[in-house]
Amino acid sequence: MQDLLIKNGRLIDPAQNLDAPLDVSFANGQVAAVTAPGKNAQASETIDAQDLLVVPGLIDLHVHVFDAVSHYGIPPDPTCLERGVTTAVDAGSAGAAVWPGFRKFIIEASETRLYAMLNISRIGLVTGAELDPPVGELDDLRHLNVSAAVQCIEENRDKILGIKIRLSDNLAAGGENEMPALLLAREAADATGLPIMIHSPRSTLGLPAILAEMRSGDILTHCFHAHESGILDSNMKVIPEVRAAIERGVHLDVGHGKGSFSYDVARKTMDQEITPDTISTDLHRYNLAGPVFDMATTISKFLHLGMDLNDALSRVTSIPAATIKMKDELGTLKVGATADATILRLCEGKRKLEDTVGKVETIEQWLEPVYVVKGGRVVAQHN
Ligand SMILES: [Zn+2]
Repeated sequence: MQDLLIKNGRLIDPAQNLDAPLDVSFANGQVAAVTAPGKNAQASETIDAQDLLVVPGLIDLHVHVFDAVSHYGIPPDPTCLERGVTTAVDAGSAGAAVWPGFRKFIIEASETRLYAMLNISRIGLVTGAELDPPVGELDDLRHLNVSAAVQCIEENRDKILGIKIRLSDNLAAGGENEMPALLLAREAADATGLPIMIHSPRSTLGLPAILAEMRSGDILTHCFHAHESGILDSNMKVIPEVRAAIERGVHLDVGHGKGSFSYDVARKTMDQEITPDTISTDLHRYNLAGPVFDMATTISKFLHLGMDLNDALSRVTSIPAATIKMKDELGTLKVGATADATILRLCEGKRKLEDTVGKVETIEQWLEPVYVVKGGRVVAQHN
């Protein structure tokens, strides 16, 4: 007898190149079997996924969930887990000085499986350009202590997966601290063997100078923003340094956010055969009520831009799992993997969705989470 059976669905698991009518069952917190419809063992609980998509639990590589400490923070369970994201990576809300609180009160207290990129600034995102008066985490380089960051990482390697830095003029003393801060982030990343996730909108450095400091496995988030230091030149051509960075293994991550996703930039870039490696939301307090809403809506924007459904789902399952070096445990429904699944409805109709530069487009199909399974247990259900 297994714990849970999901039957009659269209199972899509990009890690195994599967897209077929298949049943999947779970036992003891792991995927127990994937079989032809009706061939699975009995289970104590059954979900009928007729007309629905059954996919691995979604992974969001960029969220802000340091609720009640960072002004960006939102509680992870209602915004991630209940909306289909079983695993989320907080992108730099905590730096070394506030990390113990993030670990104790957020990671350990949440049902969502959480990891983090540690902010190179020890104060993390406790301040920011949105406060009055605005104070950036790189405004004062005394907040960047490489040995404190390295020690924090060494003590929390089970949860810290990389270093985060935000390079923007208004967060880094008008831009003058951007390069020194980037070099300190590089030093911490090299000392720990972890990747850096870089935010570049409004950077005064220009993307070529930023990319020159990025190595294989590093992540350029907000890849489709329309501010200074973007991936397109003034003629809307992808700059050559971006292609060179991709060749050497730099990842492009969407990080939609409140100011970092332009339909036009995304479309022009994908027309030039550059696709993002991962689709992430950058979900936080200032975009939760729109234009981001949730992961399913963010994926839907890529379906609207012409991305194939399987390709889009790989960018929220198998690819981010590989990015965080957990491809056998997460982001797949292989037998033995962690028993996380998201059951989605592919809806058709007309829906208006906005990007972050005020452009509204009408999309004709979108995804909505219906059931969320984590660790073999149904943790959310929507009708
Ligand atoms: Zn962010």
